[in-house]
Amino acid sequence: MSDPTIHTPSGKVRPTIAPVMREGVPVMRIDLHCHSEASHDCKTPLKLMPGACLTSNIRVLAVTDHDQVWGGLELQKIVREEGLEDDFWVIPGEEVTTREGELNALFLKERIPPNLTPEETVKEIKAQGGLVMLQHGFDPLKRHRLRPEATLRIAESIDIVETFNSRLSRRRWNAAAVVWANERNLPQAAGSDAHTIQDIGEAWVETPLRPVKTPEDLIAALRAGTVGGAWTHPVEAYLKKQWRQLKQKYRW
Ligand SMILES: [Zn+2]
Repeated sequence: MSDPTIHTPSGKVRPTIAPVMREGVPVMRIDLHCHSEASHDCKTPLKLMPGACLTSNIRVLAVTDHDQVWGGLELQKIVREEGLEDDFWVIPGEEVTTREGELNALFLKERIPPNLTPEETVKEIKAQGGLVMLQHGFDPLKRHRLRPEATLRIAESIDIVETFNSRLSRRRWNAAAVVWANERNLPQAAGSDAHTIQDIGEAWVETPLRPVKTPEDLIAALRAGTVGGAWTHPVEAYLKKQWRQLKQKYRW
């Protein structure tokens, strides 16, 4: 029998991670929108994220902090130190504030400054070899969504459409994103938009298990996958987050 434990570079020993099977095929889940302690409105410690993801079979996680990229870059480092790089793939990203709403950037190397025009933001993302993801693009109650007129102007540059976001005001806005993505034959993704550790993995694309290290790997994995997730009413999500943060603060 093979050794059931793995010795990581940091000297820790952890069990091997058994693949989750679906109809005889090993599968994994991808969450392309989540926040960490690098966001001003989130306290999730980066070092707890690999464990939280792997318990939900999230093997690919894009960290998309508000106008920051260091969270994702730091998580990549943690994953390497823990010897998890063959089981868990981190995509450093940023939820960039443009002058006309937010856009998600994936596979970044450097931070993109906020308050550029959507066109300038797209240019910066592409210059780094990154992907442009339209997230929560169709919910009129999402204050920070990319404005519809801007969405149309940059439509040709959008690489991925988030068609399941757990935090929309109504389920129907996810359906509108599906129609938009299908019309353009764009790959579809899911985002938990998690602002607490418990919410990571609430939305996913389930796809055959494979490494995702490049934009091309990601697009292929999304195209072979199925979008799913749990939708939570935003008021409920807000109350839960406040409650958990209080508990954390006073260590109940
Ligand atoms: Zn977000």
